[in-house]
Amino acid sequence: KRDDVDVDKLEAAVAGLDVKDGGYKNFSDLPLSEPTTQGLKSSHFAVMTDIQARAIPLALKGHDILGAAKTGSGKTLSFVVPVLENLYRLQHVGMDAGLGALIISPTRELAIQIFDVLRLLGRHGHMFAAGLVIGGKSIEAEQQALTRMNILVGTPGRILQHLSQTVAFNVDDLKMLVLDEADRILDMGFQRDVDAIIEYLPKDRQTLLFSATQSRKVSDLARLSLQDPEYVSVHSED
Ligand code: ADP
Ligand code: MG
Repeated sequence: KRDDVDVDKLEAAVAGLDVKDGGYKNFSDLPLSEPTTQGLKSSHFAVMTDIQARAIPLALKGHDILGAAKTGSGKTLSFVVPVLENLYRLQHVGMDAGLGALIISPTRELAIQIFDVLRLLGRHGHMFAAGLVIGGKSIEAEQQALTRMNILVGTPGRILQHLSQTVAFNVDDLKMLVLDEADRILDMGFQRDVDAIIEYLPKDRQTLLFSATQSRKVSDLARLSLQDPEYVSVHSED
């Protein structure tokens, strides 16, 4: 564990966030760790998009979220920032901490994009280990690395394959599940894989579900995966 960070102070500031207020406009208005603050700054992210301004404070406070906003609205940071921050405040990082967050993406390309954002925000002092599980490499090669990861980004089929085959892959201490582009996950026929993945995961976790569109299938998945969620839906004016 690190002793150079004042987690208690951050925790108190997060507890004091007024999620009804809606007055948080910039990332700097939020109580974020120094590594994340630096990561955002060096990537020139300053003003939050609408979905970020509404979802991030709620997610920092531990709520489950069902978020809907069109493509290009900034959904990735809406979950990447809370994942990094919530694990940071829990000090759920490092070799022995195990898997803290699982991010499920419909395609390899989107998974790689999420991974790149994690890397971008993680390069200023964050200590988490993040990995990609998207197939294309031998399952054995992935198995080796898997057990050391704190954050995994992957596609449904490959994640499920590891959950069922990789004995050393322990998800018992998972704190956060993210379902990104949930509408596409379902359109691509991954519903049963995702249902099966969720069966493996601890019930006592935070789940963030993001989608570009709302549909019957998305609400079904939300009902199965989320607990008492906050609904964050951002509609464009045009
Ligand atoms: P979505 O997942 O909703 O389709 P992305 O998360 O991929 O959207 O973001 C779309 C683009 O907007 C990306 O290029 C991203 O870097 C940029 N972006 C996201 N949030 C911000 C922000 N707060 N300020 C500036 N650019 C942003
Ligand atoms: Mg996206």
